[in-house]
Amino acid sequence: AKNRGLNMYALYSPDMNISTREKMALESSLRKAIENNEFRLYYQPQVDIRSGEIKGVEALVRWQHPTKGLIPPNDFIPIAEETGLITQIDRWVLRTACMQNKKWQDQGLPPFRVSVNLSSQEFLDDALVDVVKNVLDETGLEPKYLDLEITETMTMNVNHAIPMLRNLHSLGIQISMDDFGTGYSSLNYLKNFSIDRLKIDQSFVRDIGNGSNGTNIVSIIIAIAHSMNLEVVAEGVEEKEQLRFLQIQKCDEVQGYYFSPPLPGEEFDKSFLDLMSR
Ligand code: C2E
Ligand code: CA
Ligand code: CA
Ligand code: CA
Repeated sequence: AKNRGLNMYALYSPDMNISTREKMALESSLRKAIENNEFRLYYQPQVDIRSGEIKGVEALVRWQHPTKGLIPPNDFIPIAEETGLITQIDRWVLRTACMQNKKWQDQGLPPFRVSVNLSSQEFLDDALVDVVKNVLDETGLEPKYLDLEITETMTMNVNHAIPMLRNLHSLGIQISMDDFGTGYSSLNYLKNFSIDRLKIDQSFVRDIGNGSNGTNIVSIIIAIAHSMNLEVVAEGVEEKEQLRFLQIQKCDEVQGYYFSPPLPGEEFDKSFLDLMSR
């Protein structure tokens, strides 16, 4: 309601600037996109570094715009967050990802988890626990095959984060801390959070072997994770040298273009079989 008020003002303001006008246009086409089902999910595998098995896939949203083509999330998630439309998008993502994962299992693929990115707004909403529970009930996906990705910034309010994570976890789902090392790190609280794994941000992985301290940071994050009995996933793995370093450091899982880009659900089962037979 607050945002609408601002936009009403902007609508009648003679000196409205371009960026406001662009934002309004984007907001109204986002609303249409939700109505017209223009979002698509792409899936990227998370591979066990020892066995090469697929342990999970991350669901990444794209907007299949009728005229502009495929729009990446960074071009519309910020405005979706600003306007509150993110909640509708994220709930569609959650349901679609769970449905797709159940379908893969029903088709006979070896079971793996599906990871869904949460927005701060959703994480702050106490209704989230019931929303997740309902989606699991409706899709029939076993809770352990759903993983929610949160960020450090979302957990800054520890009085909210601790019980929220505990309640989500008690549904039997898994929780990963995304982009670890880039946000506000509450190392003090990490042990109080009911989470299962840390995801090393790709900026640190990119620095592996560059002689910068990225290499050290990667080792430190793996050590922190393992000391707290958390699994650790490295993101943005593109090169063999990065993979080799992560193997030596005993990272658990890897995700990145080295293995596969994010792929549409229909293409994923084919490429899955390719990956497994490599
Ligand atoms: P993220 O959660 O950190 O997702 C990882 C991003 O890295 C994805 O970008 C992925 O395509 C990209 N990536 C994967 N492997 C590699 C690699 O080897 N090298 C490089 N350079 N990049 C790689 P994408 O799909 O464009 O998503 C960007 C961000 O948008 C995500 O970052 C996430 O924060 C957000 N996002 C995506 N889907 C959703 C969603 O459904 N809901 C919400 N709230 N946010 C989402
Ligand atoms: Ca993520
Ligand atoms: Ca990430
Ligand atoms: Ca991110």
